[in-house]
Amino acid sequence: MRRGNKPGFLLQVVRERIDILFRLAEKEVKTHPERSRRYISLARKLGMKYNVRFSPKLKRRFCKKCGTLWVPGYNMKARLNSRKKMMEYRCECGAVRDFPLTLRKVNIV
Ligand SMILES: [Zn+2]
Repeated sequence: MRRGNKPGFLLQVVRERIDILFRLAEKEVKTHPERSRRYISLARKLGMKYNVRFSPKLKRRFCKKCGTLWVPGYNMKARLNSRKKMMEYRCECGAVRDFPLTLRKVNIV
């Protein structure tokens, strides 16, 4: 199916499934990190398959490189770079991502 050519209920179901996967990932991140990464990768695959975009908040919840769900202070460090006016999120795998500060509401730390 082409982009923008999908029935609304389908997208709603996909969004719901992504939400559920993120919640599962959150639950398992400390006990079964592997399982948690699997949930995130499933959620991302779903999003790609159905062209469902992640909300800005969800985009900041996981590492794009290794697929780990971020728990601030546990497997991710967030710091403010006031010179760049960016939040720097450093994952335990070493990947660093910058997010603009203007989206204050979606900063998870
Ligand atoms: Zn990572």
